[in-house]
Amino acid sequence: MDEILDLDVEPPARMVGNAPHPGSVSGVSDLISAVMGHGGDGLRRQKNNKSAFSLSSRSAAFLAEHYPQASPTHWNDWRWQLKHRITTLVELERVVDLSSWEREALAPSKNKLPFAVTPYYASLLSRNDPHQPLRRCVIPTMDERIILACEEGDPLGEEGDSPVQGIVHRYPDRVLFLVTDFCSTYCRYCTRSRRVGKRELTREFTWGPSQWEPALKYIERNANIRDVLISGGDPLTMADHALEYLLQRLRAISHVEIIRIGTKTPMVLPQRITNRLVQMLRRYHPLFISIHCTLAEELTPESQRACTRLADGGVVLGGQTVLLKGINDTLPALTSLFQGLLRNRIRPYYLYHCDQVVGTAHFRTRVDWGLELIRGLRGHTSGYAIPQYVIDLPGGGGKTPLCPEYLQGRDGRDLLLRNYSGELYRVHDPMEPEMNVGGVA
Ligand code: SF4
Repeated sequence: MDEILDLDVEPPARMVGNAPHPGSVSGVSDLISAVMGHGGDGLRRQKNNKSAFSLSSRSAAFLAEHYPQASPTHWNDWRWQLKHRITTLVELERVVDLSSWEREALAPSKNKLPFAVTPYYASLLSRNDPHQPLRRCVIPTMDERIILACEEGDPLGEEGDSPVQGIVHRYPDRVLFLVTDFCSTYCRYCTRSRRVGKRELTREFTWGPSQWEPALKYIERNANIRDVLISGGDPLTMADHALEYLLQRLRAISHVEIIRIGTKTPMVLPQRITNRLVQMLRRYHPLFISIHCTLAEELTPESQRACTRLADGGVVLGGQTVLLKGINDTLPALTSLFQGLLRNRIRPYYLYHCDQVVGTAHFRTRVDWGLELIRGLRGHTSGYAIPQYVIDLPGGGGKTPLCPEYLQGRDGRDLLLRNYSGELYRVHDPMEPEMNVGGVA
């Protein structure tokens, strides 16, 4: 079971200019094979002990118990992980003892975020504790059926800021480019639950080179766009050649200075971060990757290896975390997460207040509590380990920083400030420039 393998897979066919015809796929596995090149046959396998993922004892035990026909080679192959995603109640009940609150929520429905989890991420879930934070992130509960008046399908008003399909242009010099609606694992609090995973329910083919073209043309036409964030869905679920097509096109636009990719893949499908992928990515620097990470428990040997590969490939890594009630809304949980990210060369970038997406009230903390958590971090750990706490304003107002108040007021020429431990200090800060009495002219 300690076999060490590394699978860097050559895509079976080039996708560029050869996208499947709309409606030509009939099921999820067909969709995965046809659109993303995730075919499992004819994989070229390499042994490379220097750069391989080792099979952790946790993964090995889970593999032996639940996939006795599969080998460590299969487990370490990201395409195998995608093909064997757990998506149904029957499959899930083989690996988790569900509560009635969860089982009821897994009944098929056309209008909600689908359920899917990779075998790798399922191996991190508690078999019998429905309150385990990791489990709550990915297994639906009937709490999702509680919808508050303030909640919306598109709480950030992204559709209103979308000049062409796939582009959200809210800030002057940057755009969000939504290139897929597919994720290997769906987070129950997803801000884009209105659109992600919808093809898994409707079987509609809605993205690919021809669908990306209007967005690429829009970026070409608008010379003020210097920063493009590729997101979705999860862009790193796409095959290398599909991703490279996008990167090539964007790098060919002279005014695009920075390319960013938003992803959760290193945490839910770390096997995807192959050496081949990293070699391809490093051709398109400066490249930033924002990694969505929720809990320190996601920083397993496998995910840490994936992040090391990206960092060694020169990719600048940032961490994005959603503050979630009962999941990561304690000081020990956040401290452990952010320090763990830093140890893995991921700079915590944003801590998001949970958006007002339909059916997510059970995940939202109070803003006051989020501010207390930031106050508890400041001064008690490295500044590098403290992300900016932000709220994305409903209706398209954009991200707004939320900061604890340290400035207490003014006393004459002094400012009054509290430090991290609550003590009051004075800082001389004249409102008018003071005369340099007796100084050198
Ligand atoms: S990975 Fe991102 S886009 Fe996909 S379900 Fe999670 S939050 Fe949504």
